[in-house]
Amino acid sequence: MSLFKSEGCKHLTGINDTKHLTSEKEILTLPDEYSKEVYVPLVDPGKGLPINVEAKVGDHVKVGTLIGTRNMFGNLIPIYSPVSGVIKGEENILHGGLGRMAKHYVIENDFKYENVKVCEPFSLESDSDTIIDAMQKLGLVGLGGAGFPTFIKYKGVKDIDTIIINGVECEPFLTTDYNAMIKESEELFLGASLMMKAAHAQRALICFKQNKVRVYEALKDKVHEHPGLELKLVPDVYPMGWEKLLCKTVTGRTYEKLPAEAHVIINNAQTAIELAKSSKTGFITRSKMLTVTGEGLKENANVIVPIGTKVSEIVRFMGGYTIDEGVVLLGGPMCSRGLMNDNCAILPQNDAITVLRKLKRRTQQCLRCGACTDHCPTNLQPVEIKIAYEHKDMDRMMALKPTVCIGCGLCSYVCPSQIEVNDFVKKAKALVMMEQTKRKAAEAKKAEAAKPQGGKQ
Ligand code: SF4
Ligand code: SF4
Repeated sequence: MSLFKSEGCKHLTGINDTKHLTSEKEILTLPDEYSKEVYVPLVDPGKGLPINVEAKVGDHVKVGTLIGTRNMFGNLIPIYSPVSGVIKGEENILHGGLGRMAKHYVIENDFKYENVKVCEPFSLESDSDTIIDAMQKLGLVGLGGAGFPTFIKYKGVKDIDTIIINGVECEPFLTTDYNAMIKESEELFLGASLMMKAAHAQRALICFKQNKVRVYEALKDKVHEHPGLELKLVPDVYPMGWEKLLCKTVTGRTYEKLPAEAHVIINNAQTAIELAKSSKTGFITRSKMLTVTGEGLKENANVIVPIGTKVSEIVRFMGGYTIDEGVVLLGGPMCSRGLMNDNCAILPQNDAITVLRKLKRRTQQCLRCGACTDHCPTNLQPVEIKIAYEHKDMDRMMALKPTVCIGCGLCSYVCPSQIEVNDFVKKAKALVMMEQTKRKAAEAKKAEAAKPQGGKQ
């Protein structure tokens, strides 16, 4: 145990005030002319491996027609068409999650939005297995950025007593959870209750920041009508939405790898809302609310778009770019990386498009002030990792465990010398992961060679 635990979080000033750009504005719906074609990746969003394709070019599809399946921990996860129309071909475009080109189906949208039921409707009367099975058939994934399949969190887990509904949305600029929680409070309550039922949990804690007065006003009177649901207001610090920090803050419990170790399952607020909507129809989630924002865009607003719409089309709807040099992020500024281009499609888990001017950082020498270490939520020593990376000292890098980094960007944010410490940690993390794979393979080879040889006596 370390005597010198980091603060692990910080109230972000200035950059956090950017939420007002969209928070109270009318929510727009993308007009049809901007989604004439939608794009469905034919690769797994995690490792980029090809999916098992079920539909072919020329097929007529509906909302919910199976395009293919991907495999995760031995579970099949369906990938559906988000629109009705015709699969008109394949195209290699940028995959926003992987950061590289990948094959996509191009679906010509007929705007009829005919739906296919992918599961039977379900309710609070349904049993746990039925709800978890429906989560799988719906292909529901975490809609707060991670995109992790929801049913995997529930399947086979035991002794869960608490569901945490994460509506913290601690990234600057982002306001979709905020708006969804205000406007769809009944769905939020139903989704949280369904999740409780699925996990046999006794309570669900709906968490959001204490400065979100309108969310509190929208939920406070009705929450008591739903057994087991509680509101939990958390401090306005970053990265309060990080699962480990949130779990510790609202339950006092810690865990090493998975929240289930602390008898908890954590889901994003919009995931709960979408589960509730699908429970009434058996239809998939086909559209997504995005915060489309930043000084580099003519207009800023929250926009509901069909999943698979191209970023470039959404930007066109917002009046285009207002700057010549900048960065387009699929997400908020703290965690997301810049896109190589805007010819890429929206995935269910994307929550924002943020366009910012390139920061002219006046990087100074490291002061050895320790601020990056003091603030790292995972108790890393970012400055030491940076030094080890610069010296190409692999053993030291491995000892400093950059693989634990969650990419929150706080080390860069607090650095008085304006050093992009996070970039060094990211690079060290990639190198260490490669080295670990290499060493594992070498060990396996050694173990194989050491095995007694069978065969002839
Ligand atoms: S980006 Fe990584 S190293 Fe930097 S503060 Fe966050 S977790 Fe720590
Ligand atoms: S915060 Fe910046 S200046 Fe301070 S120790 Fe870390 S890298 Fe060096």
